[in-house]
Amino acid sequence: MKILVINTGSSSIKYELFDVDNHKILAGGMAEKIGEESGILTHKRILPNGESSEEVEEGLISDHHEGLNRIVALLVDPVNGVIADKGEISAIGHRVVHGGEAFHSTVIIDDEVIAAVKENISLAPLHNPPNLTGIEVAGSIFPDAQQVAVFDTAFHQTIPMRAFLYAIPYEMYARHKVRRYGFHGTSHAYVSEQAAEYFGRPLGELNLITIHLGNGASMAAIQAGKCVDTTMGMTPLAGLVMGTRSGDVDPALPFFLADNLGMTPKDIDNILNKESGLKGMCGTNDMREVIEKKDEGDEQAEIALEVYSYRIKKYIGAYFAVLESLDGLVFTAGIGENAPYIRELSCKGLNRLGIEIDPERNNRAGNGIREINPPGSEVKVLVIPTNEELKIARETKRVIESKIKARIFT
Ligand code: ADP
Repeated sequence: MKILVINTGSSSIKYELFDVDNHKILAGGMAEKIGEESGILTHKRILPNGESSEEVEEGLISDHHEGLNRIVALLVDPVNGVIADKGEISAIGHRVVHGGEAFHSTVIIDDEVIAAVKENISLAPLHNPPNLTGIEVAGSIFPDAQQVAVFDTAFHQTIPMRAFLYAIPYEMYARHKVRRYGFHGTSHAYVSEQAAEYFGRPLGELNLITIHLGNGASMAAIQAGKCVDTTMGMTPLAGLVMGTRSGDVDPALPFFLADNLGMTPKDIDNILNKESGLKGMCGTNDMREVIEKKDEGDEQAEIALEVYSYRIKKYIGAYFAVLESLDGLVFTAGIGENAPYIRELSCKGLNRLGIEIDPERNNRAGNGIREINPPGSEVKVLVIPTNEELKIARETKRVIESKIKARIFT
């Protein structure tokens, strides 16, 4: 079964085509700068020997419809294509950012689902509209394929009320759905399943803390396989320090910025989401550059790394308290998988909790799942590469095979 996974942003479409039965990725890439003067389409196909070849097309991509059509043309290209006909694609798996409280799992898309995603636009005004555009465009280009929505928020819907309710007037939750939702759910779910496989035990028996450190960053506390808390909130701004997002700040900070610096809500939104985090503290949001600067003696970079890792460490302690016992700590995504310095700093001094890192194992390069605690350690500290697209493809296959009717919670 061939499944196309797409992640539609306001000016981009990321895609991967999977042959899920044979556990193979056939092609993938991204159409960027859609609607801008000149767009870029980067297409990578995976050759039968496992190597890949990449081609880049530059030029106007007027809208998402044209973008997806161009992607399809590359997939079915008579010379370099990976499939003969678009009809071979049985389903499209869409990444949808905000499912609100309506979606606790993956669903087949129908009119009711689209209406419920539209209802959540106020919660994710930047993400849900382009996700809906992706669904609409894919529906017109693939009229015979099933369309499936996989929500970033769904994995966190098991979080109990004591952890998701903000201590503000209850009506804000009851009428306006203001609460903690959490994001990166697909990644937290994927790496926790991978961890269970590594442990050789059912996920339902395990307590885990998963730490996703990409450009965005979040942690999840997983008790007996179910998420019970997460660091992001109603929006992805809360929690850990990120590339350009502040993570947790005093909730009164926006009033200070408005009253003393004359900033508008839009300015404040921009500062906290785009100009803060690593970038705000030391001028770059790219962790590789921050570490390089620190190695060259840049003090601001050094303190930025300390703030970044201190926040992770603080949440490890908090989630240890929430879970009461811990089997595994999982680092994932660009930084979690590739920055031993951050892993070391975040876990420093936690041996009383059974969390220890073996310096040699931590610094050893590798690609797959790696255990970086010393042998015999109480808590396994794992590095697990995330693969949100693969998880979306598998979820898509699972729901279309089981023909689960959308369950929408109201
Ligand atoms: P996204 O959220 O965009 O998917 P990624 O998971 O790709 O992000 O993570 C991007 C981050 O990972 C960047 O800050 C990048 O600098 C960092 N990163 C990638 N490789 C390394 C590396 N070898 N060492 C340190 N940081 C790395």
